[in-house]
Amino acid sequence: MQDPTTKYPNPPFPEQKQPFPGLAAKMTPKPDHGETTYKGSGRLGGRKALITGGDSGMGRAAAIAYAREGADVAINYLPEEEPDAREVIALIEREGRKGIALPGDLRQEAFCEKLIEDAVKAPGGLDILVNNAGRQQQAASISDLTTEAFDATMKTNIYAMFWPTKAALKHLQQGSSIIQTTSEQAYDPSENLVDYAITKAAGMSFTKSMAKQLGPRGIRVNGVAPSPIWTPLQVAGGATMEKLVKFGGDTPMGRRVNLRNWHRFTSSLQTTVRVFRRVKSTGLPAGAASLD
Ligand code: NAD
Ligand code: MG
Repeated sequence: MQDPTTKYPNPPFPEQKQPFPGLAAKMTPKPDHGETTYKGSGRLGGRKALITGGDSGMGRAAAIAYAREGADVAINYLPEEEPDAREVIALIEREGRKGIALPGDLRQEAFCEKLIEDAVKAPGGLDILVNNAGRQQQAASISDLTTEAFDATMKTNIYAMFWPTKAALKHLQQGSSIIQTTSEQAYDPSENLVDYAITKAAGMSFTKSMAKQLGPRGIRVNGVAPSPIWTPLQVAGGATMEKLVKFGGDTPMGRRVNLRNWHRFTSSLQTTVRVFRRVKSTGLPAGAASLD
């Protein structure tokens, strides 16, 4: 038995700021994506997955877990995230699985179409699409929110789940899955995340309607709605310095969800539309099936 309140790093954390999109390798403390702890049990043997934003944060945690569960894993990320992506590819290959690096900007429809074709080519198919890439830049006032910034958030968080899903459909078969990373911001938007919260509500809605549309074809569509998690997104403009320094200190356990537990949610391929929300009494996400 281990005391969960002291099992992982607790705030205060040092002040830090990185330019967007940020690198996990440069964070203090460094996020724990399950690199040394996750143990697979063959639950995804032979599957082929594409994870957007798979270089760091929740995407990396899912990539490690999927590879250890037996899947070949392609990851998409921005070119400036190559150092983080290299670490993930090495971890996937260490499991004897194919790790495919597919850098590029998801805000372009043509790139999203090519991404899906490339993700299918190398491993010879696609069974799991994780639309996880995201942009979060906090702005204290709507007056500080430029049209360019608003547009970039919409493109990264809404179009970048729409275009890959559309392109992937012709490759997905019965038993395949599509998973979105949405956010608790879909339900309880913060005053300084106006544009971001809109997109996360859109992701939740997209998940539910696509689950209804694709369920009859035997394709599962799920969403995961995390509370704040220690990832590059937070230190690269997503949170205020004040929030970063005491990150997670306001929860009952005095810390946020640790990424190494992330696989429990993204590797759950059993249900249609399973939406997870944090249970405040434990500080851990818990399952709440919303459609079935
Ligand atoms: P992260 O920074 O590790 O991952 C986000 C990834 O998005 C980046 O690694 C980057 O590769 C990708 N990305 C951003 N813009 C892109 C673009 N134009 N083209 C291609 N890729 C692009 O942070 P994370 O927190 O693991 O974020 C993953 C998802 O989780 C996001 O959708 C985010 O909104 C969501 N989320 C995060 C939190 C949190 O507290 N960290 C909470 C709820 C939801
Ligand atoms: Mg990253």
